[in-house]
Amino acid sequence: MLTIAKEEQRYDMVIVGAGVAGLYMLYRAMKAGLTARLFDAAGGIGGTWYWNRYPGARVDIESFEYSYSFSDELQQEWQWSERYASQPELLRYLDHVAQRFALHEHIQLDTRIDSVVFDEARAEWTVETQTGETFQACFCVMATGCLSAPKVPDIPGYGRFAGESHFTSRWPHEAIEFAGKRVGVIGTGSSAIQLVPVVAQSASHLTVFQRTPNYSIPLRNRPMDAAYEKHMKANYAALRDMEWRSFGGFVCVGGEPRQPLQCSALSVSTDERRREYEARWEAGGLCYYTSYSDLLTNDEANATLSEFVRAKIREKINDPAIADKLVPRDHPILAKRLCADSGYFETFNRDNVSLVDLREGPIEAMTERGIVVGGVEIELDMIVFATGFDAVTGALLNIDVRGRHGQSLRTAWHEGPQTYLGLMSADFPNLFNIAGPGSTASLSSAIPCDEHQVDLVAKLVERARRARRPVVEPTHAAQAAWTTRILAIAEGSLIHRGNSWYVGANVPGKPRVVLLDLEGFDSYMAFCDGVLARDYEGFVFGEVEAPKVGIEKLVAV
Ligand code: NAP
Repeated sequence: MLTIAKEEQRYDMVIVGAGVAGLYMLYRAMKAGLTARLFDAAGGIGGTWYWNRYPGARVDIESFEYSYSFSDELQQEWQWSERYASQPELLRYLDHVAQRFALHEHIQLDTRIDSVVFDEARAEWTVETQTGETFQACFCVMATGCLSAPKVPDIPGYGRFAGESHFTSRWPHEAIEFAGKRVGVIGTGSSAIQLVPVVAQSASHLTVFQRTPNYSIPLRNRPMDAAYEKHMKANYAALRDMEWRSFGGFVCVGGEPRQPLQCSALSVSTDERRREYEARWEAGGLCYYTSYSDLLTNDEANATLSEFVRAKIREKINDPAIADKLVPRDHPILAKRLCADSGYFETFNRDNVSLVDLREGPIEAMTERGIVVGGVEIELDMIVFATGFDAVTGALLNIDVRGRHGQSLRTAWHEGPQTYLGLMSADFPNLFNIAGPGSTASLSSAIPCDEHQVDLVAKLVERARRARRPVVEPTHAAQAAWTTRILAIAEGSLIHRGNSWYVGANVPGKPRVVLLDLEGFDSYMAFCDGVLARDYEGFVFGEVEAPKVGIEKLVAV
């Protein structure tokens, strides 16, 4: 048989994931004159916005902030139609970006990456697709997303249901009809909270299966106002500057940029605090994150906001018995990701909606006809799983990543992720992980964090290419110190009190460890600036063998 030699597919950089981070990485690679190829398993670009196309899906940070800042022309020319863009509009935006900067020709869709393996002798990565195609690259950027690997539901009888079933995280492209159907939604996180009010409008009956009630703030979305748009665009530079100096990478409160409050919730009078909370409730969205500075670290301070929001939720629900079930009491506010809704709690005042409180009895089984709780089978035509993700590490560890000496990343992170700056791991040279564990990405607004980390990768790559061999990696000491730092910061936080994806608690068997840098985006950026100013402290490049000294001191909390 005639064997045709495979054409060599070698690039300076391979990028995995065509979401916000991957697209910007590709743009930066192109600008730097690198050859690059970007892969995505999806049939289109957009990452999280490609997959999570369930009705009601929209961003909950204002679009003026949740958008790229790297091109002023782009941010001036793009017109958002709503204050918080819907999923279809976000996809249109990302497609516009890809067209405008001629990215499409470097993107290969419908291509799942199964393994990335480092070749020590050649100092390059071999990337293998599910169909066995291989590509070589000096630099490998994993932009696989922190909320992209759906969690497999840990429910007895999962898969037996004979009716329609859908995941919010893998929503079909064709229109899904709820009219005339008995629909069950499992989960009450951000995804379900957006979906539920939409389903309730047409389903013959909607049953929401709630395991943990959540705090949610009214989003207060509205069509874009021309004067507001003009004002924001005229002041974009100042807005971005404030974002980069903020904890969460976003600063708008009710449409106006506002410096985060720098004082304790307990340092002001009860009346002043109440006025502040009321104003933010009216402003809508996630603006409590930029409120008092100790809400995530001080129980008493946190209780002031938790109680305020509980009372607000209760006011919306007609039946006090249902309100009792919907009001969150098992965790402090912000210990789990805050939700923002458009009529979620009010939905439970409708006659065609019921709530099943799984704290009174868990789902016993899924059957061909529906879901059994407390010995009673609830018959359904459709089940929607809004059950979340194997977050932050899931998508990356689904790929067989092997670094020096064939070492597997899954093994290296067996007891929890080990990173330097949440960006690289020792013994995995030239492998970058955007929005990975140990970064602020999942806590802060995604796009500014992604842009900042991608810019950092571009600098590291540029520096590595000046070395004798184009290799960069963190030292073990820097990695150990960073990991210790992340855990130490988390010690003082209330985040441990929520059984959420922030700490890996939502996935059975996953190590329970804080996956985020909780010090915030501004501190993370300042830290990275310091690393660069000290000639890439904590990193070694191809011409340097020994780790630099002093890093433990640098990263001590
Ligand atoms: P999630 O917050 O992890 O919520 C999953 C829900 O499913 C939880 O209520 C969970 O209950 C429930 N659940 C999981 N397994 C279950 C089981 N076996 N039985 C019963 N209930 C079960 O996931 P998500 O709602 O998809 O949101 C994930 C993150 O994506 C958010 O935190 C946010 O960062 C992001 N997101 C953002 C937006 C936006 O920007 N607008 C929208 C959607 C999502 P427990 O809480 O008890 O585990």
